Amino acid sequence: MRRKLAAGNWKMNGTSAALSELEALARNFPSSDIDILICPPATLLHRAAGIVRETSVSVGGQDCQAAVSGAHTGDISADMLVDAGASAVIVGHSERREDHGEQNETVRAKASAAMGAGIKAIVCVGESLEQRETSKTLDVIADQIAGSVPDQSTGDNLVVAYEPIWAIGTGKVPSLSDIQEVHDFIRTLLDQRFGKETAQSVPLLYGGSVKPDNASDIFGVPNVDGALVGGASLKASDFSVIVKAL
Ligand code: 13P
Repeated sequence: MRRKLAAGNWKMNGTSAALSELEALARNFPSSDIDILICPPATLLHRAAGIVRETSVSVGGQDCQAAVSGAHTGDISADMLVDAGASAVIVGHSERREDHGEQNETVRAKASAAMGAGIKAIVCVGESLEQRETSKTLDVIADQIAGSVPDQSTGDNLVVAYEPIWAIGTGKVPSLSDIQEVHDFIRTLLDQRFGKETAQSVPLLYGGSVKPDNASDIFGVPNVDGALVGGASLKASDFSVIVKAL
C-alpha cells in the first residue's frame, strides 16, 4: 500500500541559522513509520542532507532544470540535487508556474528529469480562486495532471500534491468534502492513465495552509496521504505536530 508523506517546503526562507530547526526535527524523528521530507533552499541542501543522515527525515529540492547539464545559468539539474543528498524534488509549484511562467510541458520535463535521476517528483497542481468560483477546478486539475505527469510515472517515483492557489499562505482551506472531491478525482485520473495498481500506490498530498490545528482533520479525508506544508514547516515544533497527526 502507498506510504504516507509529510513534506515541508521552505520556499525562499532560511539561511544557515534555520538548520537548527532541521536538527530539532531530525531529533524528534530518529525513526518513523511515515516518510518525512524537508525541501530547504538549494543553498542549504547539502548541509541539510548531512544533518538528517541516519534519521527518518529526508531532504529534497524545490525545483530542477529539465536538462541534464549545460548552458543554463542559475539552474540546478536533478543529478546535482542527487549529488547534494536529495531524494525528491518539487516540480510545478504554483509559485514556479506564476513567477517563472512554467507551463505543463516544462513541469513534465522536469518531473521526467527527476525520475531519470532516480528521485521522486512531487508534481503540484491546483486551481486559482477564479477557476474555483467558476466551477473549473476539475477541468484545470485534469489538464494539469495530463500535461505535467510523465508517462514513466510509478508509485515509487511520483507524488502528486494538490495545492489550491487560493489556500496557499492565506489561512483559507477548502472544505474537507472539496478536498476529497479533488483527491478522488486525481486518483481516478491516475487509474485511467496508469491502471489501478500504479494509481493506488501514488501518494496524494494536500497543500495550502496546513497547520498543527487542522492537520488531523485533513489527514482523515480519504485519498489524502499526507501534506505539502509551507509556513508551518519552518518551525520544527509546528511541523512535528503535523507529522504526528499523520
Ligand atoms: P502554506 O502551507 O504556507 O500555505 O504553503 C503551502 C505550499 O505552497 C507548500 O508548497
